[in-house]
Amino acid sequence: MHDDVAQVLFTRARLQARVRALGRRITRDYAGRDLHLITILRGGLFFLTDLARAIELPLSLDCLGISSYAGQVTPGQGRARITKDLDDQIEGRHVLLVEDIIDTGLTLGYIRRSLLVREPASLRVCTLLDRPYRRIVETPVDYVGFEIPDAFVVGYGLDWRGRYRNLPFIATLKPELHT
Ligand code: 5GP
Repeated sequence: MHDDVAQVLFTRARLQARVRALGRRITRDYAGRDLHLITILRGGLFFLTDLARAIELPLSLDCLGISSYAGQVTPGQGRARITKDLDDQIEGRHVLLVEDIIDTGLTLGYIRRSLLVREPASLRVCTLLDRPYRRIVETPVDYVGFEIPDAFVVGYGLDWRGRYRNLPFIATLKPELHT
């Protein structure tokens, strides 16, 4: 699996340091509030579990499954769909959406709309990776791990055709593997 990697962008140590720093900020920002973390299956799982352990507050977790746009369709023509709904109600709760990567913002825009109609007390977004220059839909992002270049990345939860999620770092793949 490691032979398929072209370039490691963020090592395990760098990811851990950044996640701890995000955890400290979120701990400060949400002090005294009841925090509810929601991630999107499956790419956000690894980030969620590390981030949750870096937040020193009582919190709860939930997962939302969606079939995302994820570059599979022409923007604006596709439709995201919930494949696994939340288990818990979010009305009146302070929700922090934990995302793996935001690219065009289409997926996030859809998720925000479907969460906001449930009337949480607040809704913020934390993403590990961001490509702000690729946005089609402008949606507010409150916490960002790293901005990344326009290259397809895998590892630390992110996949290519279901594989590479368990790489402990974020990397690009050799072009012959995914083109
Ligand atoms: P957006 O809707 O913002 O264009 O895309 C967000 C989704 O696209 C992410 O949740 C992820 O599933 C997928 N995605 C975007 N860029 C990458 C990437 O570089 N690598 C992987 N593995 N998925 C990506």
